[in-house]
Amino acid sequence: MERTFAIIKPDAFAAGNAGKILSRIYEEGFKVVGLKKLYLSRIEAEGFYYVHKSRPFFGELTEFMSSGPCVVMVLEADGAIKKWRDLMGATNPADAPEGSLRRQFGTSVGENATHGSDAPETAAFEMGYFFSGLELL
Ligand code: UDP
Ligand code: MG
Repeated sequence: MERTFAIIKPDAFAAGNAGKILSRIYEEGFKVVGLKKLYLSRIEAEGFYYVHKSRPFFGELTEFMSSGPCVVMVLEADGAIKKWRDLMGATNPADAPEGSLRRQFGTSVGENATHGSDAPETAAFEMGYFFSGLELL
């Protein structure tokens, strides 16, 4: 079993799509190991997306991620990292396959409804950024 880190981003939460996304997570066979609603500060969003700090979209991204509440989760499944990335689809919802979460709920390359870790190392950092060990029992 593998764990990955996921976010229902502020656009999807504000649009009332958190429940539908969570339903889909269960239907696809993930176990929800950790889950909480947070309203990130700009500083917290910047720390989370630290790897992107020199990218041109960093300002826009961290402003968006701190623009409203989101839901942070730890998901468990066989091959959870890839399984969750596949369920989300491509970063740009227009390039994401029919039936994927970003295609269904995303509206632009920035406001794309969900986040998912892209490798074991980033999953470990991202889970630890938001959850303590005791919250993941
Ligand atoms: N993003 C953006 N503009 C871009 C690329 C990315 O606003 O041109 C945002 C988008 O919200 C994306 C996040 O930055 O989900 C992180 O980018 P990354 O390349 O890591 O994409 P992801 O791993 O989320 O698919
Ligand atoms: Mg990424």
